[in-house]
Amino acid sequence: MPQPLLFGVVALLGLAVGSFLNVVIYRVPRGESLVRPGSHCPQCGAAVRNRHNVPLFGWLLLGGRCADCRASISIRYPLVEAGTAALFVAVAARFGFSWVLPAYLYLAAVAVALALIDLDVKRLPDAIVLPSYAVAAVLLVPAALLGDGLAPILRGLAAAALLWAFYRLLAHFGGMGFGDVKLAPLLGFYLGWLGWGPVAVGAFAAFLLGGLVGAVLMATRLAGRKSRIPFGPYMLAGAFLAVFAAAPIADWYLSLFAPTA
Ligand SMILES: [Zn+2]
Repeated sequence: MPQPLLFGVVALLGLAVGSFLNVVIYRVPRGESLVRPGSHCPQCGAAVRNRHNVPLFGWLLLGGRCADCRASISIRYPLVEAGTAALFVAVAARFGFSWVLPAYLYLAAVAVALALIDLDVKRLPDAIVLPSYAVAAVLLVPAALLGDGLAPILRGLAAAALLWAFYRLLAHFGGMGFGDVKLAPLLGFYLGWLGWGPVAVGAFAAFLLGGLVGAVLMATRLAGRKSRIPFGPYMLAGAFLAVFAAAPIADWYLSLFAPTA
């Protein structure tokens, strides 16, 4: 498939998926159904008209206000849609039109939903994390058998076990929630699939990003020493940093120790 066509297709797919993720992010923590009732204004309860339900453009068309009661609609909705589309295009640029592309697009969608839910309610719902193991297996195992053989699967499983043990240990000492412990092996599997470099970069980047943001929040007194900062967004951001840039980051890091290389 020509690259511009691929990018166009995944961008549209990303907008549509992002629109669905907005529903997931709002309803899953509340234990509501994803299908019924249809989209409605949380203020006045009026159903959203079809032409206003178009990702991104619906919000722009309405000027960010409900068509019925004029209550403002958060700019987060179009941002989630545009952000998912951008992430999908980046994933397509990374993997091309390949057997593994659907698996990493799925991970991108899950990452957007989980990061925002964790920021909202400080939870990583089992309803999203646990089925993702089945989806990852269904999408990645055939990709391995059709392409690279069993090595990526075995490496993925080893990395999943390693990250599970690491996060489980941190949870034991109270440093991590059990939602994080359940998410870690999923990211381990995906990163291990790509290689040990991405596993190392992804795990390290999560703590670096989390530490940096935590330090900024404490310095600006937006968070106290005791406030619980959700860690899921950093695990997911670290994982995607590794997906996109593990190789250059690893090269740079090694170059610090081998200046003549
Ligand atoms: Zn309304």
